[in-house]
Order: sequence, then C-alpha cells, then structure tokens
Amino acid sequence: MQKNNIKAHVQELISKHSPKAVDLARDILEHPETGFREFRTAGLVHQFFDSLGLSHQDGLAITGTRADLVGAKKGPTVAIMGELDSLIVPGHPFADPNTEFAHACGHHTQIGSMLAAAAALADPDIRECLNGNIAFIAVPAEEYIELEYRQSLVKEGKLEFMGGKAELIKLGVFDDIDMAMLTHSSTNTAEGKIAYGSINNGAIAKEARFLGVQSHAGSAPHKGVNALQAAQVAFAAINANRETFQDSDSIRVHPIITHGGDVVNAVPSNVRLEMFVRGRTLEAIADADIKVERALKAGALAVGAKVELNTFAAYLPMSVNEDFFEIFRQNAEIVVGSDNVKKGSPRGSSTDMGDLTHLLPTIQPYATGCTGTVHGADFIVQDYQTAVVDPACSMALTVLDLLTEEAKGSQLVRNFHPILTKNAYLELQRGFNRHTIFDGAI
Ligand SMILES: [Zn+2]
Ligand SMILES: [Zn+2]
Repeated sequence: MQKNNIKAHVQELISKHSPKAVDLARDILEHPETGFREFRTAGLVHQFFDSLGLSHQDGLAITGTRADLVGAKKGPTVAIMGELDSLIVPGHPFADPNTEFAHACGHHTQIGSMLAAAAALADPDIRECLNGNIAFIAVPAEEYIELEYRQSLVKEGKLEFMGGKAELIKLGVFDDIDMAMLTHSSTNTAEGKIAYGSINNGAIAKEARFLGVQSHAGSAPHKGVNALQAAQVAFAAINANRETFQDSDSIRVHPIITHGGDVVNAVPSNVRLEMFVRGRTLEAIADADIKVERALKAGALAVGAKVELNTFAAYLPMSVNEDFFEIFRQNAEIVVGSDNVKKGSPRGSSTDMGDLTHLLPTIQPYATGCTGTVHGADFIVQDYQTAVVDPACSMALTVLDLLTEEAKGSQLVRNFHPILTKNAYLELQRGFNRHTIFDGAI
C-alpha cells in the first residue's frame, strides 16, 4: 500500500473504531479512580486490548498495563500512552459522590485516544506495513497526590516511587521502548485544536509534619505548643520569599494542610502539610527548596514546635524534542488542518512525561475540546472528536511516519542524545529523598 493510502486507511479505521473508544472514555469519566487505585479503569483497558487480540502485561506498578503490537518487519518500538488516574475535585459534576475523585485533568480522554489508535493500528492491513512495533501503555498515577496513601504503598513494598512513570521506568517497562508519546487535554483554545512543543516545569514534593504539645484550648493554652500556629508562620515565611523567585525560573510553591488539628477544644499538636516546589530547572528548584525548608523551620522555631520534613522526587522538567514534534505537527495538520495546529506556550504545571524526555525521544502534545479550568470543578470535555479522536488519529499517523519505509523513527532514535541513562535517572530520583527533623524548642 502507498504511504498516502495507508494514512487514508488509518483515518477511516480511526473513524470506524473511535465510537467505542469514546464510550470507554466516558465510562472512565463516570468511574474516576486516583493513582494506584485504578483497578476498574485498568480492567476496561484490558478488555479493550483483548477485543483487539493484543496480548498485554498487567499489574505493572500496581495498575499499569502494556499491550504489544508486533509489526511485519523488524524496527524500533514506539509507545502510545494514556494515563489512568483521576484527581480529587469536590463539586465536579462527574465527581464520585463517596470519594470526590474526578477526572478534571482529562486523563480519560488520553485512554480513549490511545485505544482508538490501537484499534486502527492493530488492523492486519496496517500491521503488514509496519517496520517496527507499537506498545500501548496505560500508566498509573501521573497526578502526584495522596502522599500519605502512597507512602503506605512504599512501606508495604508495593512501590519504590510515588509516581507512575518513575516506577515503570524502574521496573524496565520502557527498556525496549525507543520513542514515546501521549496527548494531554487542554482548555487553551488560543493554541488551536492541537498544540505541540510546550515545556513543563519540574517539581519536587514535600511533606511537613509540625509537632507541638496538646493541651486544653480554653483552660490551659499556655501549656500547649500550637502546631497550627507554627504552620501559619511557615506559610507567611514562604510568602516572604516569593519576591526572590525569578520569573524565568517559573517557581511555584503551593502548600496545602492535609491535617489541621484533632479536636477544636485542644491546642493542635499534629499538623501536616503537603507541597510542591516547581521550577523550570533542577537548579532553580533546589534554590527555592532551600528557602522553603528555611521557612518551614522558621514556623517551628517561632513557637517552639518540632517539624519533620520529607522530600520526594516528583517530576523532571520537560525537555522538548523538536524533530519528533515536527513529525507529529505535520500529521496533526493532516487531521485538523494547519490553522488548528499551533506551538504550545510554556506551562507552570509538571508531569512525569518530563522524566521520559530525559531518557528517550518523547513528546506530549495537547488537544483541546474541553472547557473550564484544568484541575477545577468546571473542567468538562465538550467535544470528544477534538479531545479523543483527532489526537488518536494524529498519533496513529505519526506512528506510520516513524515505522514505515522512510525509517524516520530510526533516524529520530539515532539523533537523540539522552540527558540521563536509566541508572543515572534512578540515582537522581533516589537522591531527592530526604528526611530532616528540626526542633524549634532547643
Ligand atoms: Zn493534572
Ligand atoms: Zn494531566
């Protein structure tokens, strides 16, 4: 089959198969599960892979799954990925009423796109044209949340890292992957229907436990040490440092209180915070982290409390692969027209796709079709053609360019110089883990 004919055939196959992939995405939307809890969601993906006759490995990093499609001839392996997990968003119209889990980052659309692409590319006519293989990987836990729950999984020995892709990298799931891509949702219609080439911040995650002394809040507050006041001083001290953050570093520090006290009639003695320190480079993150730690200790010092600090690896800053994006851009233009494909703007958010960009040619384009605020209660997918089907088609056509006779994929792999080896990556990630205790009473 001629290249243009193959592409036209894939577009027809995407149209034919996408309704069931969209139905599955809607099913996931209505049954959200947060990271490392996505058992039902993964089950839907398994069934879909089974319906395509694709063998798959399950239970990777608890809920991850990977199906492999072997092409007719030898060549590199390209991964199309989707993320399984939801957020927690009280008040979201599709939030689970019991857990408040909700898909407010559009990950359900990613799974729909990945499976629509799988359905088209698994067609025997297409498989016949492939010089290489495709792995479809449903990845757990992109959102770095619920740190206490995830630490319990680490303690049980079920995980080492608290993010999905880091754990899959460690397990060797990407060892034989030469290139990887995933299309993420976006509400930024100024970037057209599909945006390419955006960079994301990196991030580390921190947990602070302020420990004070509990006493009667009415009759004996003078005998207590108020851990909540310590946390409040820490917040103010973090804010006092914000003017030192430089715009070019795109620093974001955003703590939340996950436990603010136990009973209203006692001085709070156990207050827990979680926070990210994000930035454009690891150096900028490290600089901001010194200031954040100083501020957290200042809170403890002010009232004579103790603070236990845990720091964890979260995400590496995104590195952009221009050559890979160029191949994707050309195919996205076939699908949605050149007026609807735009260069994406830099983002203050972070993703573990940034980690993969350090190891292999990797892209994360964005697709719109959604309204509201990402991670907000009003984030809604309005147009599944734009959010699921068009990115599926753009990624499937990109695979054809990578794995057909022109061997653009092999060229991409040859020209890629990894920023880190897998071992250096794991060492870097492990190096972020730090536990410190500061006693403000001494
Ligand atoms: Zn998100
Ligand atoms: Zn997301």
